[in-house]
Amino acid sequence: MSLEPVDDALDEMLEDYPDDLAESLSQREAWRRQVADQNADLEFIIADLDRWPVGTPIKAAFLDGSDELHARIARAVQPIGEACGVTIDFGADHHGGFHRWTTSDRDYAADIRISFDQGGYWSLVGTASVDSSVGSPFGGVGGRPNQRSLNLGGYTERLPGTWRRTVLHEFLHALAFKHEHQNMLGPCQDEFRWEDDEWYVPTLDDTGRFIGDEHGRRPGIYTYLSGAPNRWSKAKVDHNLRSAGAEDAAAGPFDPASVMLYRFPKLFYKTDPSGCAPQGNGQDLSEGDERGLNLLYPKLASAQEADREKRGRRADTAIAAVESLEMLESADDGNADYLASTMQLLDRLT
Ligand SMILES: [Zn+2]
Repeated sequence: MSLEPVDDALDEMLEDYPDDLAESLSQREAWRRQVADQNADLEFIIADLDRWPVGTPIKAAFLDGSDELHARIARAVQPIGEACGVTIDFGADHHGGFHRWTTSDRDYAADIRISFDQGGYWSLVGTASVDSSVGSPFGGVGGRPNQRSLNLGGYTERLPGTWRRTVLHEFLHALAFKHEHQNMLGPCQDEFRWEDDEWYVPTLDDTGRFIGDEHGRRPGIYTYLSGAPNRWSKAKVDHNLRSAGAEDAAAGPFDPASVMLYRFPKLFYKTDPSGCAPQGNGQDLSEGDERGLNLLYPKLASAQEADREKRGRRADTAIAAVESLEMLESADDGNADYLASTMQLLDRLT
């Protein structure tokens, strides 16, 4: 019995940052960890700096696409604003037009800069979208005013059947959500079939995709994703599928109905049905998603005020700690960039 072909709609869901962006994010991550290790007050930079300030509208703008498409995206995102204290400002004016940004902007036209012209679907996580150290300065994707921060590839041509879910998924990333399969409290790490079946003979179909061999033995996740259409290295698989460190633990218990949980091909799971497979209708925010949103962005004015006060205090402490770091005096150019952009993010909170 050979492996059933994988539904293309599911495969499309595997997001993949452009290489220069992924490289830049891992360097920033390494810098943040190094800084946080020097002073406990700087843990904040890793733990809570990705989240936007609460109570302030988050501005979103489009690079390309029609007014009609923009209106559909804005409508699809509405449940987020209804569930929590976030206002995503698409700027619909009375002529039916929406905020726009361009690749020659020098100032931020928007916090979330949407495009449809790159391959695939992805979004920067939270305030990385306005972090000028994120992405190559010469690339089209990153945290600078003239760079894309959220892409919905090909939507100007056609909307896939799962487009509403994908839009919610990417906007939750833009609001600092991470993947549910990387939730430390979830079952996915133990449930994933990382390795090939024993004696698996690497077998490709005519599209270059790894499939089961003639004895029905299956490729594991590493092998499967190294083939078409993903062609991921082992490091990329680990980065995208393994749980992040404890510091990055998700806000709540594992939620199998979350829009942040992928529906992977069956060969990814050890068991069928798998506890790591999504439940729920797969289109709407789950109750867990709404709870998570409310934790990050409370609706009540009094809770917003308390959050602003607490984060402002922690940001002040972090700024003082950054200023006292000796390593920064000998900072090379790269470190100086990270430092400047981190201070900007901290300043927004004070
Ligand atoms: Zn994602």
